Amino acid sequence: MAANPKIIVIGGGLAGLAAVIKIAEMGGHVDLFSIVPVKRSHSVCAQGGINAAKNLKGEGDSTWQHFDDTVYGGDFLANQPLVKAMCDAAPGIIDLLDRMGVTFNRTPEGLLDFRRFGGTLYNRTAFAGATTGQQLLYALDEQVRRYESEGKVTKYEHWEFLSAVLDGNRVCRGICAMDLRSMEVRVFPADASIIATGGIGAIFGKSTNSVVCTGSAQSALYQQGCYYANGEFIQVHPTSIPGEDKLRLMSESARGEGGRVWVPKTAGDNRDPKRIPEGERWYFLEDWYPKYGNLVPRDVATRAIHKVVYEHQLGIDGKPMVYLDLTHIDRKVLDRKLEGILEIYQKFVGDDPRDTPMKIFPGMHYTMGGLWVDFTQATNIPGIYAAGECEYQYHGANRLGANSLVSCIFGGFIAGPAAMHYSRNLQKSVATNGHFDAERKRQQELNSQIMKSGGNENPFLLWRELGDLMTRNCTVIRYNKNLEAADSKLCELLERFQHINLSDRSQWANTTIVFARQLYNMLQLARAIAQGAARRDESRGAHYKPDFPDRDDKNWLKTTKAYFAADADEPRFEFEPVDISLISPRPRKY
Ligand SMILES: Cc1cc2nc3c(=O)[nH]c(=O)nc-3n(C[C@H](O)[C@H](O)[C@H](O)COP(=O)(O)OP(=O)(O)OC[C@H]3O[C@@H](n4cnc5c(N)ncnc54)[C@H](O)[C@@H]3O)c2cc1C
Repeated sequence: MAANPKIIVIGGGLAGLAAVIKIAEMGGHVDLFSIVPVKRSHSVCAQGGINAAKNLKGEGDSTWQHFDDTVYGGDFLANQPLVKAMCDAAPGIIDLLDRMGVTFNRTPEGLLDFRRFGGTLYNRTAFAGATTGQQLLYALDEQVRRYESEGKVTKYEHWEFLSAVLDGNRVCRGICAMDLRSMEVRVFPADASIIATGGIGAIFGKSTNSVVCTGSAQSALYQQGCYYANGEFIQVHPTSIPGEDKLRLMSESARGEGGRVWVPKTAGDNRDPKRIPEGERWYFLEDWYPKYGNLVPRDVATRAIHKVVYEHQLGIDGKPMVYLDLTHIDRKVLDRKLEGILEIYQKFVGDDPRDTPMKIFPGMHYTMGGLWVDFTQATNIPGIYAAGECEYQYHGANRLGANSLVSCIFGGFIAGPAAMHYSRNLQKSVATNGHFDAERKRQQELNSQIMKSGGNENPFLLWRELGDLMTRNCTVIRYNKNLEAADSKLCELLERFQHINLSDRSQWANTTIVFARQLYNMLQLARAIAQGAARRDESRGAHYKPDFPDRDDKNWLKTTKAYFAADADEPRFEFEPVDISLISPRPRKY
């Protein structure tokens, strides 16, 4: 039993830092690992805001309403007690962040300001301009730096988690990680480990995520025996800016501040959008969903845009795009509340959204599925916890905008104390040096195999094929025939992976081998996603099958749990009932 346990936290985004703060407060020591400097973690990209039902605008909002909107928005696939606990905790989390010095926008009376986001009728989203994630991450980072200076936290930035070290009883006793500069592979003992490695956007090639969101750590753990839950639930955001290299998000806050989505009524219309008169514009979201208008949830808005573009054939200049228009909003309001995202559009597209409607299209954005965890954020491998976007717990079949940041902080606040409690009650380690040595050797061997591989396949081209395949078959619309074909193609890509040839074989800061390792893990996880989608014969939230257009609670009100059958080198599936003890499922109509 350790009075001051050693806990490893992998990931320095909001979830990881929230866990670190709790552990340090409770007297534990943390080794904090991150591929990028923690202040550059993907959380820094979050734009629009963080939800909490504080009802400061006197609209009659409540934490129960937040809970109901979340469960309803997620099409009843989330375990309800934990979602309720998160919504109850959210106002306190905002107060805590406010006290830490987050520069939230305020009303003229000095109160915290709140804006509307998708899937709710209430102004429930606190925000710091359009750079909320950055302000939150920097606030938590400052707290962690304080603990670092007190010797309670040791940072390993530019280190990549490769695998868990499991003892003879399959209990996690530490991790194996690689220094991304010296390429040293080293093992680190710990009483417990918390995974907070974010989303898996890179599996879809282009996404709104940062490029380190590969899901490689989640996949490594899935291949070591962790369940991966609801992998088929991927969120496509309705408003992203298509780019050659990646997609860039145009946050829901643009619609929260009054942005309107429309297409010219005539296909192939190439006139200047500023001159298209009001009567020739089709505000299809307002038309189809008069109550929620432009702020229907993301899955609904995404499918509507697809319908307008592909069924009504009304894109812009014959291209798959629609307008997101802010030009009717006072410039001063835009500058005060949305400047960060307007700059992004201006920088990457060239037009000023204050004067010209933006051209947008849906893009892969968020991972609703992830490592399976129980109500204490524990995975099924003793000693491994998970928090943040890398786990599956809080959103069900579709995430409400601005609910992720609060779920990351809340999940980290649960995982930290739970890992401490576990560690303080831990039986003496039965891990011998042998388990640590064996895992280090296994990972070094993988490195040398990839280094030596002398085939003719380029890992970056394989990745491009993976991204195209997954975007085509596992995003907005899914057909079983295509999903099965996608899985066969994934097997082919895994076979071709055995014949890759690295363009760089140097032993210092070799990003090619690092990427190749991640690619292998992405391919394995992609199979769990594609096969999970093929199995779920219904439509629920972001998972839409035209051949099964209705939600089927009788057969599918269940969590998908994929596990890796190492002997067969493929995913297998179990299904678990969802805890619907607080709100009975009802049809989802906006
Ligand atoms: C453009 C954009 C805007 C968004 N805006 C909002 C918003 O306004 N409101 C909202 O609620 N949500 C928003 N989201 C979602 C939200 O930002 C994320 O879900 C959330 O920040 C994820 O935080 P995290 O702590 O789980 O992971 P991340 O912030 O992604 O951090 C992951 C960490 O893990 C580390 N890591 C990963 N793999 C490894 C490895 N193998 N070894 C070591 N370290 C590793 C990384 O270095 C990083 O430190 C947005 C998402 C995007 C893409």
